[in-house]
Amino acid sequence: MLNELFNMNSSDLFRQASILAEPMETLLCSPIPITTECQMTPPCRHCWWRSMSFFSQDFWRRRTLDEVARRAGDLSSAGIQRLLLPAGWLGYELPEWFYTYVQQVKKELAAKKAEVEIFATCGPISWSSLSQLKEAGLDGYWCGIEVPNPELFRQVRPGDSLKARFQTLEDAGAAGLKIWSSFLFGIGESEKDLVWGLKKMKALSLDSFSLTPFEQYPYVEMEQRPAANLYDWARTAAIARIYIQDVNCFTSPSFASWGLRAGINSFLPVFPDQGQLEQIHSMRSYFGERKYQLK
Ligand code: SF4
Repeated sequence: MLNELFNMNSSDLFRQASILAEPMETLLCSPIPITTECQMTPPCRHCWWRSMSFFSQDFWRRRTLDEVARRAGDLSSAGIQRLLLPAGWLGYELPEWFYTYVQQVKKELAAKKAEVEIFATCGPISWSSLSQLKEAGLDGYWCGIEVPNPELFRQVRPGDSLKARFQTLEDAGAAGLKIWSSFLFGIGESEKDLVWGLKKMKALSLDSFSLTPFEQYPYVEMEQRPAANLYDWARTAAIARIYIQDVNCFTSPSFASWGLRAGINSFLPVFPDQGQLEQIHSMRSYFGERKYQLK
């Protein structure tokens, strides 16, 4: 089926993907980074956070419990349905303080009677850390595969382990957490790699999937690699939608127009203070009325 999808003409592909996505709820997710501190050694060769650390004094700071809880309350009042608590890689065993953040956010949301899911992402972690996250009140865990080719994975993420990432996804599901995974698109992978990766994704009981177009960031080893072609990215996102069906497929609001064409129903990072909630709802509803006439 996947090979047929890769050979399908774009207008049929986009049309099928957007029709499948139409009945799905629009899911809006905002990140509240706890810390960008990361112990990955050597660091990943495309890392946006490392690039940003050259431009922002405040970048490595761990946010306080109060800051994180207050932001969670504000985002829930603004209409965000899912919060993501990201950190850099803190080791396979999460530090105790991480669970305190999850508990504090949970408490804040309960006080506001907000029905908001809490996800976290901090790379591959142990079964025991995942179980403790679940106990602390976490709803789901995001662990990206990022590069669906073991050899290319080692080149892009020399300090990381693809095997540990797959294990983390399995363990997260077994611990009762919803699971979210992702690939970067346009990082040197082939169609064969994408087919391999998408089959792996389908075999997991995913709640959410992100296909992120590769972008260039200064001061990292991969700064010269050209950014992903958005048309090719959208075709692959449409293939993912048709193949993995009713999983929440995510993209950034900056790629909303291509994303809607490709059957995406979920968005991250959403910043309500920048008017993105209204913008996404309005784009999705207008596109929904018109897409049958679009080629
Ligand atoms: S694990 Fe994440 S934060 Fe750490 S170097 Fe890799 S991409 Fe950057």
